[in-house]
Amino acid sequence: MTTETRSTCPYCGVGCGVVIASRDGQITGVRGDPEHPANFGRLCTKGSTLHLTATPEVTRQTRLLQPMQRAARGAAPQPLGWDAALDSAAARFASVITAHGPDAVGFYLSGQLLTEDYYVFNKLAKGLIGTNNLDTNSRLCMSSAVAGYKQTLGADAPPTCYDDLQHTECLFIVGSNTAWAHPILFRRIEDAKRANPALQIVVVDPRRTDTCEIADLHLALLPGTDVMLFHGMLHLMLREGWTQPAYIAAHTSGFDALAALVRECTPERVAAVCGIAQDALLQATRLFATSPATLSLYCMGMNQSSSGTAKNAALINLHLATAQIGRHGAGPFSLTGQPNAMGGREVGGLSNLLPAHRDLANAAHRAEVAAFWGVEQIPAQPGKSAIEMFEAAADGEIRALWIACTNPAQSMPDQATVRRALQRAEFVVVQEAFAGTATCAFADLLLPATTWGEKEGTVTNSERRISRVRAAVPPSGMARHDWHIAADFACRLAERLGRGAALFPYTTPESVWNEHRETTRGRDLDITGMDYAMLEAAPQQWPLPAGATQGRPRLYEDGRFATTDGRARFVAAPYQAVAEPRDDHYPFSLNTGRLRDQWHGMSRTGTLGRLFGHVPEPVVQMHAQDMARHRLADGDLVHVSSRRGSIVVPVVASADLGASQAFIAMHWGPEYLGGRSSTGMALAGVNALTTPQHCPVSKQPELKHTAVKILKAELP
Ligand code: SF4
Repeated sequence: MTTETRSTCPYCGVGCGVVIASRDGQITGVRGDPEHPANFGRLCTKGSTLHLTATPEVTRQTRLLQPMQRAARGAAPQPLGWDAALDSAAARFASVITAHGPDAVGFYLSGQLLTEDYYVFNKLAKGLIGTNNLDTNSRLCMSSAVAGYKQTLGADAPPTCYDDLQHTECLFIVGSNTAWAHPILFRRIEDAKRANPALQIVVVDPRRTDTCEIADLHLALLPGTDVMLFHGMLHLMLREGWTQPAYIAAHTSGFDALAALVRECTPERVAAVCGIAQDALLQATRLFATSPATLSLYCMGMNQSSSGTAKNAALINLHLATAQIGRHGAGPFSLTGQPNAMGGREVGGLSNLLPAHRDLANAAHRAEVAAFWGVEQIPAQPGKSAIEMFEAAADGEIRALWIACTNPAQSMPDQATVRRALQRAEFVVVQEAFAGTATCAFADLLLPATTWGEKEGTVTNSERRISRVRAAVPPSGMARHDWHIAADFACRLAERLGRGAALFPYTTPESVWNEHRETTRGRDLDITGMDYAMLEAAPQQWPLPAGATQGRPRLYEDGRFATTDGRARFVAAPYQAVAEPRDDHYPFSLNTGRLRDQWHGMSRTGTLGRLFGHVPEPVVQMHAQDMARHRLADGDLVHVSSRRGSIVVPVVASADLGASQAFIAMHWGPEYLGGRSSTGMALAGVNALTTPQHCPVSKQPELKHTAVKILKAELP
C-alpha cells in the first residue's frame, strides 16, 4: 500500500512543501504540497525529481551505507561498527584536546543540516569542548546578509515575507538569478506581474540572466560596484527630494553622516564606476523611492563579496531613507541559498554566534547560554570562520576536523589551501550521506548519515517559516541521523574528558527542539509558542511566543527596530572596489553561480541524466569580442588561471556578459573539471581559481569575482 508523508524539499531556501509517496520502505514518488504556503503545490525541476534520486538503484551507487575507517591516508577505507567508529573518534578528539587545548579542533557544518542537528553540534563544540571553532557553509551563503541586518535593523531577521510579492509595486532584484536559484519564488513573481501589470521590476546584475526576462529595467553594473550604485541612488533621492525626512527623524539614527558620505557619489561618478547610463540610474532611483511599495530581493551577488556587509547595509539604507519598510509589499528581503541556512543561524551555528541570535562577543549572552546549558562558561575566544578554519588547519593550528553534510574539497574557495588543510590535519571525520564527494577522499573516518526522505526535524526558509521535515522511509544501510551521531559522540567524548554526558539527554529530534525553543524565550525570534504539534498542522513563521496562535509575517510595522534605542541605524560605509582587481596579467573578472537544474556539488542531482539536459557540460562563458581578440571559437579548450590555480574548460560566447567578464557554474567537480594549483597540486572545479579574500565584517568570501586570465589550450 502506498503511504503519503508531508515533508520539505531539501534543495533551496524557498522551502517548498512536498508530499512523498512510499511503498514497502521505498520512496516511489513526490508531488508539491498544495497546502504549503511557500509553494501551494508547485515544484521546480529539481524538487519534482527528488524521488528519482532516492531509488534503491541510485542509493546503492551514491550512499555511504556504513562507518568506514582508513588505517592510513590513501589506504582503502574498511568497514567497522558504530561503537568502534565513535569510540575511535572520541579517543582521537580527546587526545588532541588534552594535548593541544580545545581550539585545536574544529567543526565545519552545513546549511543542509536540520535545526536539531545544528543545535546538538553547537552545544557539543561551544558547551562541552569549549571551542568556538564551529562554522558552516552558510558562511559562504548568508553571513553578509546577517551582518547587514544586524548593523542596520538590530537583528538578523528578514522583515518581509513571500506574500509581499503580491503587494509590492516595485520589485528591486539585486544579485539574484531568482529564475534559476529560487524557481518557485520566480513563479510567484510572474504571478504578481500578471495580476498587476503596473508592477515595475528592476534587476541589478552584471549578467543578463533569465531573471532579466521579466524586468522593466536591467542595470548591468560592473562586478562589485553595488555600494557605489546604492550611494549614488541616495545622492539622487536627496537631490530630487525623494527621501522621507519625517520617517528618518522619528525612526532612525546616523543619517547625517551618510548624507555627507554620498554627497560625492554624483551621477557622473556612479555612471563611470558602475558602468551604467545616468538616465537608467535616475529611472531606477525614481522607481525605488516613489513607488507606493518597494521590495528588494537579494542573494549571493550581494553577499559573496569582500564588501558584502557594506552592500547589504547600503541597500537597507535606501529602504530606511524612503520609508520603504514595515509595510505590505515594502522592505529588504534577503533570500537564503540553502534549505536551512536560517535555522542554523537561529541556534547560533556560526563561529561568532550563540543560540537564539545571541552574540559570542557579548559577555552577558555567553553567561546566559552557559547557565542554560549548565556549563561553567562559554569561552570568549572568537571561533574561526570557514576560511580561517581551513587556513588554521593548513598551518597546523587546528589538528582535528569534523566535517558534516558538506563538501569543502569542492565548495570552498582557494582549493589549494583547503586541500593542504585536509592533508595536514591529524584526524578528519566526514559525516556524510553520499560516499563519492571529493572531501570523503580525505577522511580518516567516514560516518554514514541519513538524508532527505529518512530524516525528522525542522528547517526554516527565507521568510522565517519553520517547516517539518519528515521521514517517509527508514534509514539506508547503517546510516544514522546527524543529531544522533553528534549526541552519541558527545557522550563518549564527555566521558573521556571527565565532563558531563548529561548535557546530551536527547532521544528524539523533538526533544532537541524543545530545548532549542526554550533558548529563544524573550529573544527577537521567540518560538516558545511553537511546538511539534503546532508544526504538524502547518508551517509557522517566527516570532511565535508562548500564547500566540500564529507567527508574524512582517516585522517593524510599528517603526520600532531591534536596536537598544528602537531606532534603525544608517551605515555610512564608503565604496571599496573588489579585493583582487583585474590587471594586465589577470584581465578578466570571473563570476561563479548556480545552474537551473543542479544543486551544489551534484551529489544528488548529478545522479539524474535528465537534469543535464538544460546544461550538459561545464563551460566558461565570455563576451564574443573578447573571444575574437584572443582568436577563440566556441568549443575551444582554454586554460582559465588565477593566482592560485588553473583549470581547462571549453569556452563559449555569451551575450549575457559584459566585456572582460567570464562565468563558470559552481557545480562541476573533479569528474568534470580537473585542474592544478600554482604549485602543481591536483585540484577540481572552479574553486581551484577563486579567492579566499573576504568581507572583514561577515567573513564571507568573494566568490562573485576573481581576477583570471584565459588562454587557448594548446593540444598535445
Ligand atoms: Fe525545492 Fe527550491 Fe525548487 Fe522549491 S524552488 S522545489 S525548494 S529547489
